Amino acid sequence: MVRIPAIGDVTGTVRVRFTPDRPTRRLVFREWPNGPLQAREGAHLDAGPVRARGLTVTVAHPDPTTLVVRLPRTLAAGEPIDVRMPYRLRLPGAVPDRLARSGGTVRLGSFYPVLAWEPGVGWDTDPPTPLLAETSSTPTADFEVRIAAPAGDRLLTTGGAAGPGRYTATAVRDFAIAAGRFQTFTTVAHAPGPVRVTAAVERGAGASAQDVAYRAQAALQAISARYGPYPWPALHLAVVPALGRVGIEYPTMIFLGGEGIARTTTHEVAHQWFYSLVGNDQGRDPVLDEGLATYVQAELDEIWPYLDTLPDPRSLRHRTGQPMTFWRGRARNLYALAVYADGARMLRALGHPAAVTCALRRYVAANAYGIATQADLARALEAGVPEARRVLAAYGIQHR
Ligand SMILES: [Zn+2]
Repeated sequence: MVRIPAIGDVTGTVRVRFTPDRPTRRLVFREWPNGPLQAREGAHLDAGPVRARGLTVTVAHPDPTTLVVRLPRTLAAGEPIDVRMPYRLRLPGAVPDRLARSGGTVRLGSFYPVLAWEPGVGWDTDPPTPLLAETSSTPTADFEVRIAAPAGDRLLTTGGAAGPGRYTATAVRDFAIAAGRFQTFTTVAHAPGPVRVTAAVERGAGASAQDVAYRAQAALQAISARYGPYPWPALHLAVVPALGRVGIEYPTMIFLGGEGIARTTTHEVAHQWFYSLVGNDQGRDPVLDEGLATYVQAELDEIWPYLDTLPDPRSLRHRTGQPMTFWRGRARNLYALAVYADGARMLRALGHPAAVTCALRRYVAANAYGIATQADLARALEAGVPEARRVLAAYGIQHR
């Protein structure tokens, strides 16, 4: 349940049914609105009390973004548990980030306590980043969400409407919402199955919903032809205030700033393959979503000449596989150069672009709906591109 009032905090209740694939004595939820950047912007998430199997359980907060539920006994692999907790979210004003209330428009990304389980591995407890970037990893799940929003608001969400105030999404790793007075335009992409693409722009935003929808349609069709089918029935894009040139990706749902449409639409649509379908631990392996999305953007939008104008210091190249903790306290442009630009340049440096496309298609097929590692990417590339081992090593890609 998500209640979005016209003024004041967003409130609701999260109910999760979780079935681990390894035994565990605890449950770990992440409260990303309490990350350092979001807290500074004015966001705050409070969750609890937590009930599991109908009993109130003890929780710990080892840091502001981590909520640990202590279970009275070990949960066995394959044994489901039901957990519920109410939450209250304070929203910042018009900030260029994933949580904001600006005029009558609200955007909600990474807004509720998310379960941080990595199948086959365990709990992801990566620290948050102070940069405008993500450190989340979540398993795919089916969502049923009731949303109460001010009368007259139009809602765009992950998944889609299933009835009045009811929304569902299948096999996605997060759920995001935009609510406001939007003008919308819908078209159908063939990716290759039919996908309803709906773009929404705030009245007076100076952007065209039709332009955004057609750009996303073209990107969906081109990317699916190269890297594999887009598996969901819809894609939503909300052009929202105060995001400027920024785009932020969620499963089947994208937030775009008005000045970023031409520059970022393809990149954000590419994240539907590299983050949304093939997940990654964004804290540990940011190159797997940002580097690959930038490569796809460079190939489709032909922005290689732009990327070639950016600095390419040799000393930075072997940092492309570094986790977000490495970039904390370093200049933001070094992170962007090493992870975004060098992530893309690394794939170009492999040569054999057709073989790289083929290898990425295999990587998507092998890791769809899961959480991939740098070793999974290396395996796919080394199977099809002769120079892959040497080039990936030069860029510091981890084979562990
Ligand atoms: Zn990105």
